[in-house]
This record gives sequence, C-alpha cells and structure tokens, in this order.
Amino acid sequence: MKKCIKCKKEKKEVDFNKNPHNKDRLHSYCKECLRDTQKEFFKKHNFKNQGEYVRYKAEKDIIKYIFDTLIISSKRRNIKVNFCLSEFRKWYNKQEKQCYYCNLQEKDIKKNIKLMPRKNVKRLTLDRLDCKKEYELTNLVLSCLRCNQIKSNFFTEREMKEIGQFYVKKKWKNYHIKNDY
Ligand SMILES: [Zn+2]
Ligand SMILES: [Zn+2]
Repeated sequence: MKKCIKCKKEKKEVDFNKNPHNKDRLHSYCKECLRDTQKEFFKKHNFKNQGEYVRYKAEKDIIKYIFDTLIISSKRRNIKVNFCLSEFRKWYNKQEKQCYYCNLQEKDIKKNIKLMPRKNVKRLTLDRLDCKKEYELTNLVLSCLRCNQIKSNFFTEREMKEIGQFYVKKKWKNYHIKNDY
C-alpha cells in the first residue's frame, strides 16, 4: 500500500505508475490523480491532443512558441489573429524558410546574427503584407527582421519586394551570403 500525496488516499501499488526516480520506484501521485493533473494541464495550455503536449514537453515546438508570441504581441498592439495554432502549424510547415522580400535564408540569419538589427531574434519574423489588415494566413509572410523593420507600416508589399530584391539582397552578397535560390 502507498499513500498518494495528492488525494491522500491509501492505494494498492498497482494504482500507481512506475517512476524510476522515486525511492519506491512508484509515482507520488496515484494513476487517477495523475490523469486529472494532466487533463488540467492540457486545458491550461490549450493542447488538443497528446501529440501537441509531447512536442511542447520536448521543448522542440518552435511553431507553438512563435504562435504564442504572436498572440501576446498582437494583443498588445490590438490586432486580431484570425487563425488557430493548428492552422498556423500547417501554414508554417509549408513555408520556405527564407525572407519573402530579400530571400535571406533562416539558417543564414543564425550564422550572420551580427548583421541583424537584434541579436536575440535568430529566426524569420512574421510580417503582414498589408498592415491595414489583421493577422490572416493569406496576409502573412516570413520576413527577416531587417526587411520587417525597413517595411514597417511605411512601404507597401510591392515597394518592399523591390527594395528587398534590389538593395537588401545586394547587401547580403557583399557579406558573401548566398541568397539566389
Ligand atoms: Zn491520488
Ligand atoms: Zn529580408
């Protein structure tokens, strides 16, 4: 018999999951409490299934991280986000990981972080093609932080594409960063 530290009930050993880190090699929570705790955790983080949770747990879920960051920053700027995580995930996985405007590759951002406006932004950023519109997947592209900042809400998509292709791309070439793909 073993006492569950959550519900404080005495239960049989078979009512506990195995846990090699504990002295008695059993989990401190009984199976029932463990299930409830997991349910609450899923709800709190909006995980729809085990897969989402596993990805989160592995800390490899970059897409969820980007999405969560977008939700926080768009709330602050009062811009609506009209897609959910799973829609965003599909969209993101389909994207070529390069800047829409200057074709800089994401892997080259990490390698040339000194040339970037902020050293802690090592990934492509999300940019709205038309900044008068809300966050919609049809209005969204991946952009390097350079292009994102140059464009801001001043240049249109077409103008920024010209600037990116003509000027920004040339700059990368000066630094021997290949970006003709
Ligand atoms: Zn319990
Ligand atoms: Zn760019």
